[in-house]
Amino acid sequence: MKAASFQAIGQVIISDKKKPNCDDGGLIIKPQFASLCASDIRVFRGEKNAKIGVTPGHEFSGIIVDKHKDVNSFNIGDKVTICPILSCGSCSFCLGGLRNRCPDRVTLGYDSDGGFAEEVYIPDKIIKLGHLFNLSHNTDLKIAALAEPLSCTFNSIQSIGLEKEHSLLILGGGPMGLMHAILAVHIGVTKITIVEPIKERRALAKKIGVKSVINPQKNWQDLLLNNFPDGFDKVILSVGLDKLIEPALNLCKKKGVVNLFAGFPLNQKSIIDVNLIHYNELKLIGTQNASLQNYIDVLQIIDQLKNVDKLITHVYKLEEVPIAYQDRANLKGVKSIIDFNM
Ligand SMILES: [Zn+2]
Ligand SMILES: [Zn+2]
Repeated sequence: MKAASFQAIGQVIISDKKKPNCDDGGLIIKPQFASLCASDIRVFRGEKNAKIGVTPGHEFSGIIVDKHKDVNSFNIGDKVTICPILSCGSCSFCLGGLRNRCPDRVTLGYDSDGGFAEEVYIPDKIIKLGHLFNLSHNTDLKIAALAEPLSCTFNSIQSIGLEKEHSLLILGGGPMGLMHAILAVHIGVTKITIVEPIKERRALAKKIGVKSVINPQKNWQDLLLNNFPDGFDKVILSVGLDKLIEPALNLCKKKGVVNLFAGFPLNQKSIIDVNLIHYNELKLIGTQNASLQNYIDVLQIIDQLKNVDKLITHVYKLEEVPIAYQDRANLKGVKSIIDFNM
């Protein structure tokens, strides 16, 4: 079968791989849509590790085409999406419901083969962990392919304690920054500001209902403080630029929360004015990934979320995955999707 394969930094190819089987348990999914994540691009750039030869793709939805006789909870023909984590199930994080923090976790698309392939093997363990989700027949599989990034964003929104009366500042209007805005709009937040240098992304932010969209030119911080003299209740850093950590703290209201959502380049160090945290009683947190509960919560609202489809600016065939990587590495578009029926 055709499958993408991560060969080396800067090199993802389409190769011929052996079709998976579920003779020893588990099931087989035929992906319908798979999405390229910023972290896939980080692997491509050598900023994050993945196994050489692995089929990337941890954001996908599809249809079950085969299953082992012992799998009872799913049927052939079911529409599904996935939490791509295989965690140990017995460490303190796993037992506390935080499998995304398990030190022994294996992730599809990084450590074992993921969704950029004609077929994907889903081990029995993923099913037992509850990490495969049946979708209703109404759910749009294209949107369901984004369950993972939406869940990571949901984790972020929940961790900062965002409520509808809060003012929210999102630094970085890429796919994840815009997903934050979509979830914030969904819970009724009206005071959303996005700072983004790319014109196309600023236009998209407006389209999904963000009224205040700023191009970070000279004095952009002063401009924001003119409108919000006390700063913002919640600030999300959705771009991995360490030089924005201090502005994020500076623009945060006393007692507010700053979340470092985006990953930074490997071994990144940053110098910040720590008194901003101390005297303003700020909370500086990080979130990454999502818990099972985050997925469950997102899948409950996924059909009601507005404008998620607008984030999908580029659609590729499976054979075009290498081009999709190049385009995303060159910051073309927002969310890139592989459509397996094209
Ligand atoms: Zn992702
Ligand atoms: Zn564990």
